Amino acid sequence: MQVPLTKPYFGDQEAEEVRRVLESGWVTQGPAVKRFEEGVARILKLPHAIATTSATAALYLALREFKLEKDDEVLVPSFTFPGVANAAILLGSKPVFVDANPRTYNAEAKHFEAFLTPKTRVIVAIHQFGLCADMPAIKKLCDENKIELIEDAACAFGSTRHGVPVGHDGRFAALSFHPRKIITTGEGGIITARDDTHVESLRSHRSQGTTVSDLARHKATSVFAPTFAEPGFNFRLSDIQAAVGCAQLDLLDEILEKRRAIAKNYTEALKDHPWISPPLVPEGYGHTFQSFCCVLKEGAPSSRDELVQGLREHNIGSTVGAVATHILPAFSAWSRGPLPNTEMLAERTFMLPMYPQMGSAEIQYVLETLNKLIKP
Ligand SMILES: *Cc1c(COP(=O)(O)O)cnc(C)c1O
Repeated sequence: MQVPLTKPYFGDQEAEEVRRVLESGWVTQGPAVKRFEEGVARILKLPHAIATTSATAALYLALREFKLEKDDEVLVPSFTFPGVANAAILLGSKPVFVDANPRTYNAEAKHFEAFLTPKTRVIVAIHQFGLCADMPAIKKLCDENKIELIEDAACAFGSTRHGVPVGHDGRFAALSFHPRKIITTGEGGIITARDDTHVESLRSHRSQGTTVSDLARHKATSVFAPTFAEPGFNFRLSDIQAAVGCAQLDLLDEILEKRRAIAKNYTEALKDHPWISPPLVPEGYGHTFQSFCCVLKEGAPSSRDELVQGLREHNIGSTVGAVATHILPAFSAWSRGPLPNTEMLAERTFMLPMYPQMGSAEIQYVLETLNKLIKP
């Protein structure tokens, strides 16, 4: 049996939507992008969603709004994908890496608080693998210290905390539509905003600092040349990608339901395992299970790498968890010392296959193989 780590989930509608875009001649930012943005905003119950080429681009645009200076510090969790640290560095500011809770994998208020300095300008909370961070406590810390808060919700489209979706605590939230996330546009992202303040600027900097949107330019009946307020990148999502996204939005509930059912099966089977801890989901949290990330406990009869290798030899797509960003060569210059939980997690976490098409035979095969490789 072959069980991949992940697989995008799509229906007949995606191809249909793309064909319509191609026939209409709208290949760049047009009506499908607008429809996709409105669809995401509606699901998140937020007033604004601005489509970008990736979550990393969205985080870059978000951080850019704060006009960071050379010594300004951006607190980011270390146990993650380095997207947000890259954005902070490329904007000329300093990422400061913080630790995380070893059972939820999320950085909490106390982890951020440990690295606060008078130079701290922004806290980036990450909803790791699709579990909402403890936002009320983090927001309180930000408010008390006059620090900006943004949410890296790359994995968290559909994630809730006591029924509230992501994006309601930070000034901005960034979502990803990479094929490994909850829904996909191939590559893609969105930045959300809770109010109007930065929306015009975000839209303009998504498109090289232009003051006129593509939609307005194409609709114009008289001749005009675009003007550019400031230098900027091209972070525009195409209509082709957004068309895929629009079809994917209709599948979101089904995708979440299936992922949660698989997670329930895994968790039930592993909850008493002496060597493997399944991810902890606190009461009242709606996890997306972008990844099903487990911890191999201390003293286990084989190493994490041997276990991942063994799963792969049985045609099961497994991989190591996130990295300890602060000790990677590209980022260690910004490290402020050891982060014990993060370093432990980077050595002991591994992912099990998770995608909506997984059936009970696949789940059974994964669990049986796990038990063969590491006897409970
Ligand atoms: C995937 C991911 C990103 C990057 O998303 P892209 O769309 O690939 O740029 C950023 N942060 C986290 C936590 C992620 O999981």
